[in-house]
Amino acid sequence: MPAGPTLLKNFIGGEWVPAAASAEVPVVDPRTETLVVRVPAGSAEDADAAVRAARAATSDWAATPLRERVRLVERVANAVESHIADLAKLERREMGKPLREAELFIRSGVQALRSSIKHAHEYQFVEAHAGEGDTQIEVVRLPLGVVALIVPWNFTVTNVLLAVGPLLLAGNTVVVKPSEKAPLSAVRMFELLELPRGVLNLLLGDGRAGEPLAAHPGVDLVHFTGSVKTGQTVGALAASNLHRAVLELGGNDPAIVDAGVDPAWAAQQLAYACFVNSGQICTSVERIYVHTEIADAFIEALVAQAEVYTKGGDGSEPSPLGPLVDARQRQIVHRHVSDAVSRGAELLAGGYLPDGPGFYYPATVLLGVEDEADLLQEETFGPVAPIVVVRDFDEAIDRAQRSPFGLAATILSADPRNISRAQELPAGIVWINEWQGGGFDRTYEPAGISGMGATGGAASYDAATRPMTIVHAR
Ligand code: NAD
Repeated sequence: MPAGPTLLKNFIGGEWVPAAASAEVPVVDPRTETLVVRVPAGSAEDADAAVRAARAATSDWAATPLRERVRLVERVANAVESHIADLAKLERREMGKPLREAELFIRSGVQALRSSIKHAHEYQFVEAHAGEGDTQIEVVRLPLGVVALIVPWNFTVTNVLLAVGPLLLAGNTVVVKPSEKAPLSAVRMFELLELPRGVLNLLLGDGRAGEPLAAHPGVDLVHFTGSVKTGQTVGALAASNLHRAVLELGGNDPAIVDAGVDPAWAAQQLAYACFVNSGQICTSVERIYVHTEIADAFIEALVAQAEVYTKGGDGSEPSPLGPLVDARQRQIVHRHVSDAVSRGAELLAGGYLPDGPGFYYPATVLLGVEDEADLLQEETFGPVAPIVVVRDFDEAIDRAQRSPFGLAATILSADPRNISRAQELPAGIVWINEWQGGGFDRTYEPAGISGMGATGGAASYDAATRPMTIVHAR
């Protein structure tokens, strides 16, 4: 790869500081396979500098009145909101997302940040009640201290915004470690922010930054979003310090399409759930169980939808699919599709490697995928819709349960008895007759190997604080 421009500074203690790491990682535009910029790979020294700066800011920030923290976080929301177009262009460059989708998801991140402000006002940071005997009990929720916020590449800005509000508003300081594959939007976002020194720090790099950060004894909470494999490493590092970890990991989400729903509508809903962001969303639908009664019509409609996503809609929506993030990700997707075909699945749309440049992959539909196929057992993270036809809702639930993951699930059904079986699905959230709705004012905790630690609404404040009980004699 030719030498290119470099972006070698971390934002630490309120200043752009040259990285100590000498190794660099290339950021490649997945639409063209060309080098955009190089960033530092990260080092223990860089991680230590960021944690020290965050630690130095903890007491002043924790002592800052909530109304002032709210004012400053509102300023963050306003700054990001007024630069959505700018940030979306950078996300398109670093991970290939179509502009309209990039803007949509950054906007939802801003909404999440604003909703965390609402929850800060409602949250009981101090609760008092009578204790046994002649005592009065006060439970105070204190900030944890320094939080390592490690995020993946699929939505850099949104993933930061989803988590950072409650962490800051509860009085913690934060070190953000974006993915080495998509750091440009994070750098731009940090250029926009005006917060007291050390409250929010940016550490660039890959695992060479992430690992010493997660292992740092000065970090009180590791808030990690990413793959199961890295989550296991990060969780073990946090545990070795007896520190907390919130782990939001990968999934292989099922969707059930029941008899009695409009097949065209169901296909439209699930095409979006399978293909948007080229399937690179943790809660993308990765398995579809469709009732035999409507299977033919549903499959025909989904194949037609795949065509629209691959080539682009009529200019309103959807946008043509962007590429996958890199060559490795495309290899995984194609390997999973080929594995399903070799096990007897029928390829109804897509499933090929288009001529370059760019790591593009078409919207793909497969029918009759075996339970043991990689597509149903592992996370694929690509624009693939594997369909399994089932004889009834019981079989759909039974098959949906055959997964170690437990992020989210979707039921499309008009039958209240079947809808009421949502709790049988391995998931932290179940969407009924829609996908991805409901906003962020809700508690959410992944099940199975998809992670641990409840977040969302008030739960994010529980995760961002520790309770201290003070017992007063009366
Ligand atoms: P990843 O696990 O490879 O990387 C995630 C982050 O961890 C990156 O910042 C990376 O640099 C860092 N990292 C890598 N090695 C590390 C190490 N040894 N120690 C500490 N940090 C390290 O994941 P990815 O490929 O960036 O993202 C895709 C994954 O993220 C998918 O599995 C997806 O499902 C998951 N994801 C989950 C959610 C959720 O909310 N559950 C949301 C988005 C993405």
